[in-house]
Amino acid sequence: MKAEIISIGTELLLGEIIDTNSAYLASRLPLLGLDLHFISTVGDNQQRLVKTLKQAWQRSDIIITTGGLGPTEDDITREAVAELVDEELKIDPTLAQEIQNVFTKYGLEMPPNNIKQAAVIPSAQVIPGRGTAPGWWLEQDGRIIIVMPGPPREMQSMWEKQVFPKLQQRMRGVVIISRTLKTFGLSESKVDELVNPFLTTSNPSLGIYAKSDGIHLRIAAKGHSVTEAQELIAQREADIRAILDDYTWGIDSDTLESIVGALLMAKGLSLATMESCTGGLLANTITNAPGSSTYFKGGLVAYTDKAKTAFGTDAQLISQYGAISAELAKAMATIAREKLGAAIGIGLTGVTGPTESEGKPIGTIFISIDNGHGQQSSTRNYPGNRLQVKQRAVISALFELRRILLQEEPCT
Ligand code: ATP
Ligand code: MG
Repeated sequence: MKAEIISIGTELLLGEIIDTNSAYLASRLPLLGLDLHFISTVGDNQQRLVKTLKQAWQRSDIIITTGGLGPTEDDITREAVAELVDEELKIDPTLAQEIQNVFTKYGLEMPPNNIKQAAVIPSAQVIPGRGTAPGWWLEQDGRIIIVMPGPPREMQSMWEKQVFPKLQQRMRGVVIISRTLKTFGLSESKVDELVNPFLTTSNPSLGIYAKSDGIHLRIAAKGHSVTEAQELIAQREADIRAILDDYTWGIDSDTLESIVGALLMAKGLSLATMESCTGGLLANTITNAPGSSTYFKGGLVAYTDKAKTAFGTDAQLISQYGAISAELAKAMATIAREKLGAAIGIGLTGVTGPTESEGKPIGTIFISIDNGHGQQSSTRNYPGNRLQVKQRAVISALFELRRILLQEEPCT
């Protein structure tokens, strides 16, 4: 079944608010086995809304609208839907009383305009709402139109409690679910090449996406039950892991900092950082993980040579190898570990641009991890602008740390 979302509101077209309602609904429709074909945005203009609704009526089985159900003049969704199906709006006395009751409950006088929210057309079933705006469920010619309010909390509550269960009954249990595998260390084209045979099947399907924290692979499967779809996904996941296991660090909502944090906690290890070109982004990212205070001691940001020596870097080492060198990254890892009393220290230095530095090209990154027993260092070169190089350097450092934490018992 083809679904279409229409989000209504001039504020959306002016860029004043972002259409999170569509994103919310788009992420939920696959659970019902509904294929979303279009998302349209239209302002508070009855004529244009009717035109948009007519177009949706031609091409979609299920049309979901959000917004424009309020009491003011510019809220025109009811009027537009009435015009679409050529029916007349009439005040429903029961509904009018219910709306009145909401105001009475809060000790407020009901503004006369709010009576507008009690208007219905004969073929619409009223969907009770959380605020004063009720929604509509309308069926005609095998099409369903679902009309919901704009405020996200009201819309989401109506969706979860009323609309989703009703649609679920209709869809006779066809579900689409997905799982995202997150990788780091391979280019998008390399991942594409390695998993190529799986890209052509439609159930499960596979999509490859380049993201700031690596290459994501999204497996989606359709089935008559969640279990059936999950089994298809599990098989495909095993196929992909067999090829990309060394590079796969997480799934769905995992972040590298949360994965690394969980490993550090499980091993009872603490962490400290000393970074240069990333300007604190490494420490910042580590602290994005809830609970990071239990293992993260702190981070030193030493941008200039002077700052590096102030934290204890040997000036001789800088003049001998340069501030952007594997030797410096190693020294920084040790300083972080020792000065901040952590089990593991990460040192990170590199070139983010705009020009090359010390003869090293933009994107050169040196990372070193010191666990008190030894050091593991790596040199990378990342393409991209300043911010992208910084982000990749941070992800690269966390990915390295994860690898080390998985490999061995770094501390006894
Ligand atoms: P109200 O009774 O508040 O007027 P309404 O159903 O008429 O509700 P709108 O007037 O279209 O809805 O929107 C009300 C508010 O809801 C907007 O100011 C905005 O904050 C939020 N909103 C509306 N549509 C969206 C959307 N598509 N995504 C995110 N927020 C939205
Ligand atoms: Mg409104």
